[in-house]
Amino acid sequence: MTQLTPQPGIMDIALYQSGKSHVAGVEKVIKLSANENPFGPSPKAIAAATAAAPGLHRYPSTDHASLRAAIGEVHGLDPDRLICGVGSDEVLQFIVHAYAGPGDEVLYTEHGFSMYPILARMAGATPVVVAEAARRVDVDALLAAVNDRTRVVFLTNPGNPTSTMLEEAEVMRLAAGLPDHVLLVVDGAYAEFNEGFDGGAAVVDAHPNAIMTRTFSKIYGLGGLRVGWGYASRAIIDVLNRVRQPFNLSTLALATAEAAVRDQDYVVFCREQNAKWRAYLVEELAAVGIPCDPSHTNFILARFADQDEAEACDAHLQSQGLIVRKVAGYGIPNGLRITIGDEDSTRAIAAAIRAFKEGPAT
Ligand SMILES: *Cc1c(COP(=O)(O)O)cnc(C)c1O
Repeated sequence: MTQLTPQPGIMDIALYQSGKSHVAGVEKVIKLSANENPFGPSPKAIAAATAAAPGLHRYPSTDHASLRAAIGEVHGLDPDRLICGVGSDEVLQFIVHAYAGPGDEVLYTEHGFSMYPILARMAGATPVVVAEAARRVDVDALLAAVNDRTRVVFLTNPGNPTSTMLEEAEVMRLAAGLPDHVLLVVDGAYAEFNEGFDGGAAVVDAHPNAIMTRTFSKIYGLGGLRVGWGYASRAIIDVLNRVRQPFNLSTLALATAEAAVRDQDYVVFCREQNAKWRAYLVEELAAVGIPCDPSHTNFILARFADQDEAEACDAHLQSQGLIVRKVAGYGIPNGLRITIGDEDSTRAIAAAIRAFKEGPAT
């Protein structure tokens, strides 16, 4: 009998849990559990995907030059300092793969994205969780946790599932306080929901040991396409390209993402709709005594009295076909993360939560 033994750390990986999309016995659901864009992709992106289909017998570009040029133009960034991946998850994977290994530590924060510890273990490194302060990243705690073994620090800004955001001066203070052997990753998956926010590009420009990651999965409504990108110094991008497979992005992915990033009118439309219905939902929840931190994302984190109440509300919502995200696994047992949908779904969830809080009419 053979004894196949996986590399150290592999069997410690807890499989990623994605947002639910079905409820047993309920035919029509409203899915507000995965921070997806309720309006779908830009019509121009859909047209580009259709137009690319007949060319699928050809291998795609290996350097993503056309997509990088488009991202560079739209964001005012040097295309030579960009790298594209299969979702920003793959860019994050390049980072850990290239810079951390057995014996090294990868820092992330208490309520940080659950992919970070998975990626650290995939590389054989040790994930280390650092406390937040009232659902906000605590720069001093992060700096205090750094030691000689630290290689990578993950910061989600704005945060998921907290929806809170560190101001630029705090991110700069973090970057400036890290020793030279540590790479700061600023994950800007929700950057576009904040008008005028650069996602962390200025931090990267000011600090050679920083990288910003971005995604087409959230405001662009292309989670199913799997495209993300990173912005860093040429030296870091050169390292990451060495662990990137040459054909990681398909022809379809490249063409669709390029059309999407060039359609900034659609981004503005989605950001405005999100802000409008987010404000409505926050106000409706406040009216029934459910607080949320000010959100900088396309979701809110509703805080219930305790875990029991959050779970009871979740069960009530499911019975109505409304799917939200429990976040006990992110260290917030009394929370429910609710993606901002379109008008109909936002009104529906607000009404269902109000009914839950007010109980059956007598
Ligand atoms: C959704 C999300 C991403 C994006 O992942 P993709 O691989 O680009 O789909 C990255 N980081 C955080 C914190 C997210 O919530």
